[in-house]
Amino acid sequence: MRSDSKGLKNRLSQDTEREFGGALGAICIPVFLPLTVLFLICVSRSPEASVLQWPPSLPSTDQLWDPVAPVLLLGWIALHALLYSMPLGKVSEGLMLRDGTRLKYPINGFHSLCVSAVLLILFLGLGAPLGYLFELLLPLAASAIALSFLFSIYLYVRSFCAPSQALALGGNTGNPLYDFFIGRELNPRIGSFDLKYFCELRPGLIGWVVINLGMLMKEVELRGSPSLAMILVNSFQLLYVADALWNEEAVLTTMDIVHDGFGFMLVFGDLAWVPFTYSLQAAFLVVHPRVLTSLHAAAIVALNGAGYYIFRKSNSQKNQFRRDPTHPSVAGLETIATATGKRLLVSGWWGLVRHPNYLGDLFMALAWSLPCGFSHLLPYFYVIYFTILLIHREARDERQCRAKYGVAWDTYCRRVPHRIFPYIY
Ligand code: NDP
Repeated sequence: MRSDSKGLKNRLSQDTEREFGGALGAICIPVFLPLTVLFLICVSRSPEASVLQWPPSLPSTDQLWDPVAPVLLLGWIALHALLYSMPLGKVSEGLMLRDGTRLKYPINGFHSLCVSAVLLILFLGLGAPLGYLFELLLPLAASAIALSFLFSIYLYVRSFCAPSQALALGGNTGNPLYDFFIGRELNPRIGSFDLKYFCELRPGLIGWVVINLGMLMKEVELRGSPSLAMILVNSFQLLYVADALWNEEAVLTTMDIVHDGFGFMLVFGDLAWVPFTYSLQAAFLVVHPRVLTSLHAAAIVALNGAGYYIFRKSNSQKNQFRRDPTHPSVAGLETIATATGKRLLVSGWWGLVRHPNYLGDLFMALAWSLPCGFSHLLPYFYVIYFTILLIHREARDERQCRAKYGVAWDTYCRRVPHRIFPYIY
């Protein structure tokens, strides 16, 4: 016990463990990823749509600026901040913090999605040119990138006013570039408004499906009606976003909320990367229409359905088990004890592989790309990137679980040897 508290004290004063390539990663990623976003948008609308073209096409500065873009972006974020603050839905408590307290979070993201949908229907009814989002995509992405930098600077500076207990373990190395990138403060708040939780699932995630809808409307403008491929991409991704918001409470136990500080990595991911790279398939289809046969469409729907089933069932099983292990739906599952008092599931979905939820997510990622056909690599960017992200995320989670559960984790790994893909990986 004494050595535990000494260890914790040392970690609080200065944490030297670094992720994402340490200081070098912290310099390269904030340069490279924003350029990647702009590059991919440019590629998606070029006739060749080649990600391998050299030199890579990057937008000119006048393509990046439209005064409407920052106004629209800030208005969108303000709308969601307002919806977040409305007394709608229940209020849940997060996991216990190091100081023994729990923070409260409004669970009203799904309400925000519904209100956004009603507003969009109203705007469309009034003849708002939603297809103009296609023209605005680059300036909007540039504004979101600029905002991510400004917001991360604000978060970094304000973290120095936070007490040491409020800092994320791992975000306080003393290297300014790394700490700016990874995030110093765990749960930065303005009053009861939680900045990280707000950004995690709302403006960017809902913005992503609005961009998709804008691409669909652009297709209607150009060709008179939306294609089956565009309808599939829009529907699959809307299901994914609606599911995340319907199950919003589950985000309170994720690595992002529990472990990671709020810095450039999460800010940029939430506000720029997700909305502008996850919508690439829809943007691609505007310029590169694709005719799908009913048989192909049915096979793709089946793949997305299977992925969604695995993803939802496994996530719900673990969430239920963590919330109430005596619940009849999980009480019969085999588990192993750990020294922390928590148990680990070794049967059911979590006995198949160590991350069945990632497996389902990857099936869905593939189903989102397939409607775009096989002529280009770009629509597969998401599934390739996401495979790398989840393999990396699995390794991070594995390290944290081994540190938390010690030998019990090793026993679990022996019982369930594969990480994501049964019999493969
Ligand atoms: P997970 O939901 O996979 O949770 C990992 C945690 O679950 C571990 O830290 C451990 O925490 C607990 N756990 C692990 N194994 C067991 C077990 N056998 N029994 C009981 N508990 C176990 O974390 P993520 O946040 O990575 O993923 C959540 C979802 O979000 C996934 O479906 C993922 O695919 C998705 N995701 C999507 C992204 C996107 O951009 N689209 C990005 C990242 C994630 P503890 O023991 O402390 O409870």
